[in-house]
Amino acid sequence: MKIHEYQAKEILRKYGVATPRGVPCFSVEEAVTAAKELGGKVWVVKAQIHAGGRGKGGGVKLAKSLDEVKKFAGAILGMNLVTHQTGPEGRIVKRLLIEEGADIQSELYVGMVVDRGSQRVALMASSEGGTEIEVVAANTPEKIHKIFVNPDTGLTDSEAKDIAGKIGIPAAAMEEAKKFLQGLYNAFVETDASLAEINPLILTRDQRVLALDAKINFDSNALYRHPDIQSLRDLDEEDEAEIEASKHDLSYISLDGNIACLVNGAGLAMATMDIIKLYGGSPANFLDVGGGASTEKVTEAFKIMLKNSKVKAILVNIFGGIMKCDVIAQGVVTAAKQTSLPVPLIVRLEGTNVEIGKKILAESGLPIISANNMADAAEKAVKAVKAAGR
Ligand code: GDP
Ligand code: MG
Repeated sequence: MKIHEYQAKEILRKYGVATPRGVPCFSVEEAVTAAKELGGKVWVVKAQIHAGGRGKGGGVKLAKSLDEVKKFAGAILGMNLVTHQTGPEGRIVKRLLIEEGADIQSELYVGMVVDRGSQRVALMASSEGGTEIEVVAANTPEKIHKIFVNPDTGLTDSEAKDIAGKIGIPAAAMEEAKKFLQGLYNAFVETDASLAEINPLILTRDQRVLALDAKINFDSNALYRHPDIQSLRDLDEEDEAEIEASKHDLSYISLDGNIACLVNGAGLAMATMDIIKLYGGSPANFLDVGGGASTEKVTEAFKIMLKNSKVKAILVNIFGGIMKCDVIAQGVVTAAKQTSLPVPLIVRLEGTNVEIGKKILAESGLPIISANNMADAAEKAVKAVKAAGR
């Protein structure tokens, strides 16, 4: 799960990670009031969307008067912000963060992820902040320093100071940097984060260390332990189809291809996407209907898949184990009739009651393309998309 920058900063402050003072706002009036309350002479007006690269896209502006705060807040609120992370369609800005301006001496970088290889939290830091870390990694990988933190000890004083020194933190700011990094590590572990990124982490001219930007993603499987974090969810920022699917207990992820897949079991769903690719096609989604899908669930799944206008064929790939093929066949027929099936439907069934299942499909009167195995199904789906010239 993702959250907004201002929410991430609120969490980080609880762990002793320093950030500029700021106020989230939902209107221009609120923004001006917030700037007055914050005081000072310079403010930063920041679009709050679940995507980075806002600065380059015009979503982060430095205001030097209250008039400018008003002007920028008005311009950014409601704008369709396009960044390299939003895709060309962009994202409508509905929230702002008004912050006191920081006097930046240098922009640095620190990030944390769960490293599966070492089964530890990997801390990455660099003197090259403010730019995309992927670019630094590609051009000057020697400027990225890494530590794999031992969970027994946490991030030790000497590790924190060592990495802070490597990215250019001067002696005068060393204690603060240590507190910052250890606070970030503790926040990461205690909130069950999957990713935390402070880009930029800044050193101010008066030698303070602050998180100027903050991004935290959480492991959705651990959210039940954190109702406070769960309440930060902003559905406006999430994929509509994915929200709808989660209501019906379907594991659904939108992708950008044109062959919709309805599969039972995550492993089979991944294998199905792979084989579609192998035959030159492109999956429109990942969808695992689970082990005990009912006719209602299958119908909802069809509706969700068909909301995506890019979909040009549907591939149903079911292995009947716990779920019997006749039940899924009945579900597919009902769903196809209810949605009046605007695109070719290819079905591959195998397993328990497969013969009854195939009979139900054949006798349905629907133009269902039956497939004998996965390869056959993928080939037929790709062919159906091509034949329609779409
Ligand atoms: P992102 O573009 O979505 O990653 O948004 P950031 O929060 O990282 O802001 C982008 C850039 O805006 C930063 O790298 C800074 O250069 C600049 N910026 C943000 N806040 C301040 C500030 O308080 N003072 C100054 N001078 N620049 C800022
Ligand atoms: Mg940033």
